[in-house]
Amino acid sequence: MRDKTLIIGAGTAGICIANELFKKKEDFEIFDTAEYKNYPFFFKPPLMIGFLFGRDNFIKENNFYFNDREIPYYIPNIIGGSSEINGCVHSLGSEKSWRKTLEDFNLNFEDIKYAYEENFSKDQKKEKIQIRESFSNDLDDDFFSFLTKRGVPYGNTEFSDTERFGTLKNNSGQFFRSTPLSSFYKIKKLVKKDIHVNNISIDNNFNVDGVFTNKGFFKFNKIILAAGSIGSSRIILNTFLSNKINIQKPIKDLAIKDQPNVRIKFKLNSQKGTLNEIYSSTFKRLILGINYLAGKRSFFTSSGATSAVYLDLDNDEVPDVKIQLVQFTEKGRLSSNTSRGIEFDPNPGFSLGITILNPKSIGRLSISKLDDRTLVKPNYFCNDEDLELCKKAIKFCLEFGKELKDIGIVNEIIDLKLIKNDVEGYIKTNVFSSYHLIGGCTLENGIINKNFNVTDLNNLFICDASVMSDFVSSNSHAPVVCLSSAFAKNIL
Ligand SMILES: Cc1cc2nc3c(=O)[nH]c(=O)nc-3n(C[C@H](O)[C@H](O)[C@H](O)COP(=O)(O)OP(=O)(O)OC[C@H]3O[C@@H](n4cnc5c(N)ncnc54)[C@H](O)[C@@H]3O)c2cc1C
Repeated sequence: MRDKTLIIGAGTAGICIANELFKKKEDFEIFDTAEYKNYPFFFKPPLMIGFLFGRDNFIKENNFYFNDREIPYYIPNIIGGSSEINGCVHSLGSEKSWRKTLEDFNLNFEDIKYAYEENFSKDQKKEKIQIRESFSNDLDDDFFSFLTKRGVPYGNTEFSDTERFGTLKNNSGQFFRSTPLSSFYKIKKLVKKDIHVNNISIDNNFNVDGVFTNKGFFKFNKIILAAGSIGSSRIILNTFLSNKINIQKPIKDLAIKDQPNVRIKFKLNSQKGTLNEIYSSTFKRLILGINYLAGKRSFFTSSGATSAVYLDLDNDEVPDVKIQLVQFTEKGRLSSNTSRGIEFDPNPGFSLGITILNPKSIGRLSISKLDDRTLVKPNYFCNDEDLELCKKAIKFCLEFGKELKDIGIVNEIIDLKLIKNDVEGYIKTNVFSSYHLIGGCTLENGIINKNFNVTDLNNLFICDASVMSDFVSSNSHAPVVCLSSAFAKNIL
């Protein structure tokens, strides 16, 4: 009998897997729970995505629970998944981390390198995701000269194992966001939207049988789960619960990881060309628009973050923290409880965003018995090593702020007193998600084997951010593209 294959999820991994199966001329269907095929044109330049967060229809919330706070986390409601709503910052990561992660899979680093060449391009190549260097300005130069004085070398922010600083890369063409869906556009018409998969049916011989969805039961004998960390983990938990056969010992929750993100904000003495200034001046907005239409490199094709440094703060010869220069300060935080959609401060200002690259703190994902919601508890900084790294990174940021204050560029380091009096308190009340949730369906959690095959079940595979138990990069998009493409090409 010929396989009738279903891919669950037309997100980053789902589209890349479909693209590989399409090249192999295989027959498959793709279901996605998203209600929308596209968002309006206005949101296509990378910078404009921040404003999409004010539109409830295209993005849904699945907030995390941390201490007594709800931390905003977003899940897409459009075909293409997180790629279509993400910040576009591009980084493949570190070879050492990749090699360690690949020990979980029957893939090698050459497969990942091949997938990278196949899927990404720095030129305007058809059917490849385009990468463009971010716009940069005076503030980046100030940042770079501080880092040079500190002995940090200039280097590649896209891929390296060592300390370095440089301009960020973005998934963007000359004008618009570049995503798996926009690059592998033939796949779009194959996606069936608005089909929410609840769980997978397994027959008495441990074979996949089909899926139960909001539109009824559909029969398939091969299923590839690519619904992201939240979606795939949820479907797996429901599947283990609902099938009466004893396929696994009952699992109540799954281990997940997210990179915590803490920002320090700086008020400037005078104008430096930050987004705060552009946002509050009609004239500057007009100039920005004209430059953009003329095809000049501008803020429009960046995410607002323009450069970054990767630092080894615990001296173990592996960078452990990324500090990103963000060219604005916000009222609240992107779509935090107080503001949906971005709201820049009116005064000139910038932020430094700290990301712990490979946090040791482990979170849990479960399904609430009370209201059936997916409960994600990220447990940020429950491991002291993460907290110590963050404190060191804050110290580094304050030193940069002080240097700029001494030469009259910075007017004020916002919340400096609070940071000095109670740095741990500041960290815990100001930590947000990096939106890089991984894990849930990992080999470490006992869900899959080295071939991405769900343990003890025939013809059920998982490949998306949920199969990664550690971070290979400061950003998870390019790693998911490469891992899922390599899986579909070499293992399926
Ligand atoms: C707001 C935000 C900003 C980010 N910024 C960056 C960044 O700047 N740089 C970077 O590298 N990474 C960034 N990321 C992370 C990156 O985009 C993701 O890690 C990566 O795209 C995840 O891919 P995935 O295939 O695992 O999941 P997704 O791309 O989320 O795909 C999952 C798909 O499954 C579908 N689905 C879920 N449940 C079901 C179900 N039950 N039935 C059917 N379909 C279902 C969803 O609709 C979705 O289309 C960001 C993420 C977010 C949310």
